[in-house]
Amino acid sequence: MTYRGVVLDLDGTVVRGDALLPGAQEGVAALREHAEAVLFLTNNPLRPASEHASRLRDHGVDASPGEVLTSADATVAYLRERHDGDRIYPIADDAIVAQLRDTDVNLTDDPAAAEVVVAGFDSGFHFRDLQAAIDAFADGETTFVGTDPDVTIPTSDGLEPGSGAIVRAVAGVAEREPDAVLGKPSETTARLAADRLGVPPEECLLVGDRLDTDVAMGDAVGMTTALVRTGVDGDTTVDDDVDGELAAGVRPDYVLDSLGDVHRLLE
Ligand SMILES: [Mg+2]
Repeated sequence: MTYRGVVLDLDGTVVRGDALLPGAQEGVAALREHAEAVLFLTNNPLRPASEHASRLRDHGVDASPGEVLTSADATVAYLRERHDGDRIYPIADDAIVAQLRDTDVNLTDDPAAAEVVVAGFDSGFHFRDLQAAIDAFADGETTFVGTDPDVTIPTSDGLEPGSGAIVRAVAGVAEREPDAVLGKPSETTARLAADRLGVPPEECLLVGDRLDTDVAMGDAVGMTTALVRTGVDGDTTVDDDVDGELAAGVRPDYVLDSLGDVHRLLE
């Protein structure tokens, strides 16, 4: 098959924590050789794209900042398009707020004045953030946006709470669901990724380690999808295929042991 564009997940696909996964370097090189454009797409909103890119280059994987799209970037793009100039109240880590501050997004530190609440990963999450959420949504008109739905993040020490945990805590106290959750599997983010690549989704190959985010997103917009068994859904085998669908309700087009095997799909 020929794929003009490639969307690559990072954690569990190319890296695990701070380590490069075996075969990843060769896999990325093979994809670069094959396709017109490569985009690394991550639901980790903590580091800016430039940091993800330099971390990849430290591992010997060719990547420029413009080839990385994070859930924080997708959130900023969404805010610019739908809420240009609106007052944004963040319930998120300092590292995410710093990224928002680097853009033209209009931040407020007064929850009652918020027109949009943005919730995401927050290592300093506190009781007062729940109070802020109550105050921000009291007018019944404030928009609720989450950076990404990942409730937990796999680390070398096991699972830690992710953006989705904060989004759900805010949803709980506000007694309402988010208006939008960016990152994977949102279709808004899938379209943004295809735009970045300059390639229609149907001509893209997506490679990721999660059925519920990576494969679900690619599937929804017509990308060809490959699940790698080096991450969250590493136990997936063709034997799990029941009535054409895997546990998360989606079915990858291919299952690979690792990114190092991706050359098989390019022949
Ligand atoms: Mg992953």
